[in-house]
Amino acid sequence: MRAELGDDVLGDDPTVKRLEAAAAELLGKEAALFTASGTMSNLLALLSHCQRGDEVIVGDKSHTLHFEVGGAFALGGLGLRSVRNDERGRLDLGELEEAIRSDDIHFARTGLICLENTHNRCGGTVLNEDDMTAAATVAKSRGLPLHLDGARIFNAAVALAVPASRLVREADSVCFSLCKGLSCPIGSLLCGRGEFIERARRFRKMVGGGMRQVGIIAAPGLVALETMIERLSQDHENARFLGQGLAQIPGLRLEPPPETNLVFFATEGFAIQAFQERLWAAGVLSLVEDYRIRMVTHYGIERADIEEALERTRRVAAGMA
Ligand SMILES: *Cc1c(COP(=O)(O)O)cnc(C)c1O
Repeated sequence: MRAELGDDVLGDDPTVKRLEAAAAELLGKEAALFTASGTMSNLLALLSHCQRGDEVIVGDKSHTLHFEVGGAFALGGLGLRSVRNDERGRLDLGELEEAIRSDDIHFARTGLICLENTHNRCGGTVLNEDDMTAAATVAKSRGLPLHLDGARIFNAAVALAVPASRLVREADSVCFSLCKGLSCPIGSLLCGRGEFIERARRFRKMVGGGMRQVGIIAAPGLVALETMIERLSQDHENARFLGQGLAQIPGLRLEPPPETNLVFFATEGFAIQAFQERLWAAGVLSLVEDYRIRMVTHYGIERADIEEALERTRRVAAGMA
């Protein structure tokens, strides 16, 4: 509430500048840009790495392909070419090699390769340093930049007990969300080389993301970077506890077992939508994604809350049979 403010479009909001500097340092990149959302950060990254008509290679379960409204197509004139994600969220390296276009007058130009860590749709799964290196090596060998959708990169870093900067070392750009596990109300940061970030800053203005006295929402980001990263391990512990409890309820099957703070499970023998609605009515909130229900543990959800949620889930499941 007491954040010092300026005009960030003119580049003189001191709180935003401090947040951008802190994010860049934390991820070991030259510069960073504060944006309105993860979706905006990913769009700006694609626009800044590529030219119209380029193809961007993404995982077939990636957030960018499924949940970003096709912005790459509509606003960037870019094609998204998908490569199979395995169950851990890694790109199939053989398919990746094949998806990269050679220099031929008939072909679109491949402009960028994207990874996601942790991988949302694959279950909050973690790509480790070797996974990152394997994809980065392919990108490098073909002279392509690598962008990492790291909306939950700190969950990955905490789960692996490595600094986030090491995990993203080989990515040319990376974005992360302030408003997921880090629990801020709003915001995301895109990090990369200085001139890349300057290009992204122009595109941010173009899509209407140039905000003025925006230190008021950047300030919680500074608090989050200082105080909310290490504690993510508690969310992971709570997710494991929730997962173990759910697995013991007849009719529920974890898929996959949680690695971070996302808990996915399928139902056997009763309809998932009806089950989720009854859970909601019982005060246990979740989302249905395809054939699974997703629950999330986060700041403010304590062990006792999970015990209570498990008890109510057990009751609702018993009523479904
Ligand atoms: C949430 C999320 C985003 C987008 O973030 P928004 O702030 O909701 O636009 C991008 N990628 C992944 C993997 C996410 O989980």
